[in-house]
Amino acid sequence: MTLMMSVSGVRGIIGETMTPELAAGIGAAYGTFLGGGTVVLGMDSRPSGEMVESAVKSGLLAAGCHVVELGIVTTPGTALMVTQRRARGGIVVTASHNPIEWNGIKLLTSQGRAPSANTAEEVFSLYRDQRARYQGVDRIGRLERDLSTNDQHVAAVLRVVDAAAIRRRQLRVVLDSVNGAGGASGRMLLEYLGCKVTHVHAEPTGQFTHPPEPTAENLKGLCEIVSKQGADIGFAQDPDADRLAIVDNTGRYIGEEYTLALAAKFVLGKTPGAAAANLSTSRIIDDIARAAGSGCIVHRTAVGEANVADAIAAHRCVIGGEGNGGVIDPRVVMVRDSLASMGLVLNLLAEDWRPLSAIVDELPRYVMVKVKYEMDRKQIDTWLQRIRLDPHGGKTNDSDGLRIDWPDGWVHVRPSNTEPIARVIAEGPDEESARTLVKRVADLR
Ligand code: MG
Repeated sequence: MTLMMSVSGVRGIIGETMTPELAAGIGAAYGTFLGGGTVVLGMDSRPSGEMVESAVKSGLLAAGCHVVELGIVTTPGTALMVTQRRARGGIVVTASHNPIEWNGIKLLTSQGRAPSANTAEEVFSLYRDQRARYQGVDRIGRLERDLSTNDQHVAAVLRVVDAAAIRRRQLRVVLDSVNGAGGASGRMLLEYLGCKVTHVHAEPTGQFTHPPEPTAENLKGLCEIVSKQGADIGFAQDPDADRLAIVDNTGRYIGEEYTLALAAKFVLGKTPGAAAANLSTSRIIDDIARAAGSGCIVHRTAVGEANVADAIAAHRCVIGGEGNGGVIDPRVVMVRDSLASMGLVLNLLAEDWRPLSAIVDELPRYVMVKVKYEMDRKQIDTWLQRIRLDPHGGKTNDSDGLRIDWPDGWVHVRPSNTEPIARVIAEGPDEESARTLVKRVADLR
């Protein structure tokens, strides 16, 4: 199964499933769905980017859209341009953190958000049933280039942080852009903020120097550089620069859950309010919200970026995101954004003056255990029903599978959107207690 069509877009392998026919078809389907109008189009730095982007562009033009080409830009940058250009939608050609063989097509709505599952499905069904409408010569789309994305994105982040305070701190930062699309704007932001930047894997070649998912095992090199240089912080972006992982001043990879935790600590400390996170995100954010004051409620959502963005809009949250290093600051854009994340975390450092390691050590520490079981949808539903009948006194939330919260930890069981598997995530104060929670639900299968 090398073609994936899900709420996070289409992903396939170059030379196999990610073909020009598919890309043009999806472009035309989305253009038809939008009924023409302006569509902004960005791409990450993969070598296959031009091939896929050209085909998507062709499909959009054929459906009568006015296409604004942004060139190599980030996903959050593209989302920002959707709103800046008052476009009807946006498309990013990216396979996010997948390896170089892959490329993909991500859709963005007129609000610069990830589409809902229903919208995505409607577009895919237009494609599958070949119902996209090609316009005649009088209504065919035209092309325009706009190279201002990075400048506008950096300016948008600078509006929400205290740049003067960060500049005074003269932070030493190592940035690993994994040869993706985020290097240019990431560096620009850090330099505006007066940071001394060591930029590694900076060139947007798409020849990823290490596997591009910003996980601990892939960022050993970054950890080494940070500790060798005695830097204050290390940042790692994924290829489309929506996710951000952090290395502290001791060269320790602190875990992607802490990106949202630190950003939320800063934002809620300044402007107490509501926050949003999906059900699989660590409880640290609840602890941070509780410490920030009584009005700071965390709204939990089903897994999927669109659900988090919906909750942010519905509850007027001041911050939101996912535990995979994906932070959404609604003042900047309504998608996960590594630039906003960097700005917020640097602002926290600038105001705290302690080293990052001290700030992180003060936050609660939990251990998460993730397990998956091969099961079909029917088996998963029966299993969930059994767990629901016996939640061991926990508080249940069934907006996406089932999450049960106890005073000492939680477990979340949900069917995967793409594969016949059940995902189980448990979190507790240590590994043993997290495994006990997994076992508590696994025994009911
Ligand atoms: Mg990504």
